[in-house]
Amino acid sequence: MTLLAAALEELVTANHILAKEGVVDSFGHISIRHPENPGRYIMSRSRAPECIEVSDLIEFSLEGKPVDARGMDPYAERHIHGAIYEARPEVTAVVHNHSPNVIPYGVTGTSLRPLLHMCAGMGSHVPIWDSRTNFGDTTLLVSDMAMGRDLAISLGSNRAALMRGHGCVVIGQSVREVVFSSIYLEVNAELQFKASMLGQITFLSEGEVDAILKRRGPYTFERAWERWCRRAERPYEPAPGVK
Ligand code: MN
Repeated sequence: MTLLAAALEELVTANHILAKEGVVDSFGHISIRHPENPGRYIMSRSRAPECIEVSDLIEFSLEGKPVDARGMDPYAERHIHGAIYEARPEVTAVVHNHSPNVIPYGVTGTSLRPLLHMCAGMGSHVPIWDSRTNFGDTTLLVSDMAMGRDLAISLGSNRAALMRGHGCVVIGQSVREVVFSSIYLEVNAELQFKASMLGQITFLSEGEVDAILKRRGPYTFERAWERWCRRAERPYEPAPGVK
């Protein structure tokens, strides 16, 4: 299998896993930077993630123009992805979702912060982007590159950002990493709500987050990925170089 063909299969699997684990429902999406052309990215046509097949995948310029849409409709919010790839050359995978436990932290002024070691992938600081600040009253959808770039500015050098009244974005340097971080962002959001009912929360320190991120390697994601593949009924392919 070529590098590109393997990447497309992995992207389909990622869509099914994110759906199975409740991070995306009928909406939300994941993209990858093109493995052979960093000026392009790949994502599905406008379709619910758990239904996506390889034949749904479309290549886009970073400005969101389909290279060949083959008559298919792209996601209106694809500009989230292109704008982040444009701003962050090291990012190779992006997830946008509306995962339910994350939403309250975008609308209340209570910060979403890591409290479980498995959730360090969200980083110590998760900024909030409010579309109303620069775009006024809209549908809240990131429907053009101007909005996408504004969101990318709010994301800055962080690993995730919330979108007020809408959802979040999560970035990674591999598909497995971004899926892992997206699932554990939702886990952290639920745990933070529960912990807040019991008392004052001791969050991970910045030093702890840094130590966890430094120690973890592809094997961290691999163990989860194999299980998630099984749950999503997708074939498991080990990542290159991982035992
Ligand atoms: Mn959305």
